[in-house]
Amino acid sequence: MNTRSNSLHETDIAYQLHPYTNARVHEEQGPMIITKGDGCYVYDSEGKKYLEGLAGLWSVAVGFSQPRLVEAAAKQMSELPYIQNFAHKAHAPGILLAEKLVEMTPEHLTKVFYTNSGSEANDTVVKFVWFMNNMLGRPKKKKFLARNKGYHGITIASGSLTGLPGNQRGFDLPAIPVVHLTCPHHYRWAHEGESETEFTARLLKEAEDTILAEDPDTIAAFIGEPVMGAGGVMTPPEGYWPGIEALCRKYDILLVSDEVINGFGRTGQPFGCQTYGFTPDILVTSKQLTSSYMPLAAILMTDAVYQVIADYTAELGTLGHGFTAGGNPVACAVGIENLNIIQEEDLMGNAARLADRLQSGLRAFSDHSLVGEVRGIGLIAGVELVRDKATKASFEPAGKIAAMTAKFAAEEGLIIRNIYETIGICPPLIITEAQIDELLEKLGRALDRTLEWAQAEGLK
Ligand code: PMP
Repeated sequence: MNTRSNSLHETDIAYQLHPYTNARVHEEQGPMIITKGDGCYVYDSEGKKYLEGLAGLWSVAVGFSQPRLVEAAAKQMSELPYIQNFAHKAHAPGILLAEKLVEMTPEHLTKVFYTNSGSEANDTVVKFVWFMNNMLGRPKKKKFLARNKGYHGITIASGSLTGLPGNQRGFDLPAIPVVHLTCPHHYRWAHEGESETEFTARLLKEAEDTILAEDPDTIAAFIGEPVMGAGGVMTPPEGYWPGIEALCRKYDILLVSDEVINGFGRTGQPFGCQTYGFTPDILVTSKQLTSSYMPLAAILMTDAVYQVIADYTAELGTLGHGFTAGGNPVACAVGIENLNIIQEEDLMGNAARLADRLQSGLRAFSDHSLVGEVRGIGLIAGVELVRDKATKASFEPAGKIAAMTAKFAAEEGLIIRNIYETIGICPPLIITEAQIDELLEKLGRALDRTLEWAQAEGLK
């Protein structure tokens, strides 16, 4: 380790509290400092090269060294680094990106509101939905339906919608009215012997029973990720989304598609709602919107949603909501260029074309004695590890074994994400066939080393 990186290592331990990190473990082991990106690869401070199998945080569609995004940012930074979007002000990148987003998303979505992050976007969605129902004279209609294991962010409202104990424990969440329904993941949540069709029917019955028990006049919206990401990459059972949409229409409940991970080709179609055949009233995007080169999220809404909000702002005099940096011009300029690249290089098509190579390559690990289930669609996948394949029993304590796989994978030169007992995989959309093969080979070695380790520890 060179002196500079060594001192950075110590400085990090001294000064930084890291998100999603065990602070005490961090004090002991310190950070992995990444210093450089190149296409689908990143390099650490010791010069070790890694294939980035998680695209940063499910987000770097165009890879880690796209010069066009650097140029777009530099150009906008020198022309106009900032101007507010409040009070009738506007800037060209914000206007043109909104137009582009309306063109790229399903056609019934017609207006855009910007925030800096997915969490802020989902908090904004909650506030807009409440605002709408106040305008419509139905102040009781405020509850959200979400799902166990769903991920919508970590701010007060979005963290309440998230259905993961780790994001709520200790934080006094949920803090808004939300009901979490069963996670739509057949492998873990289906009853013994329940077919996928029966599972879907049960989930839809549960949703309808919940709506009726809570009183439809109190349920404002249903929010979900088409494919669940950060909770462990769970694909829904056949028929689930059309069934949820039908219930939303029947009971006048707004349908929100959280496409922060799914959006822009991740699932093989431009948007996850298209992959699964439903029509949301509100769609949230972020991450691949700028390939995370700049912080930005966008909420798209139907004209019907917009009209109610617009009427209310007219009545109140203004929309009392907005973020200083929401829709920052540099972020929007980077977003436009990023989406241009996605379109010109047909990266969404690339994801669709390479999906089978990744998905069938991963499914070949189904025979591995640690692997309980391989699931996924497009260029997103989860490999769930179990102690016992027959009973699906997990290792104890939960999460330890997948953490070892992530550690061995890093040693092999592959970055992946361990989520409880699932390995999350979500490479940049620019990935090639050869790089998918490299990912599979490195993951295979990491799984074998995990098995050897588990056996040596007497866990398996
Ligand atoms: N929604 C989904 C589906 C996400 O995956 C995430 C982030 N992983 C968020 C919302 C929150 O986004 P952010 O971290 O930008 O606040």
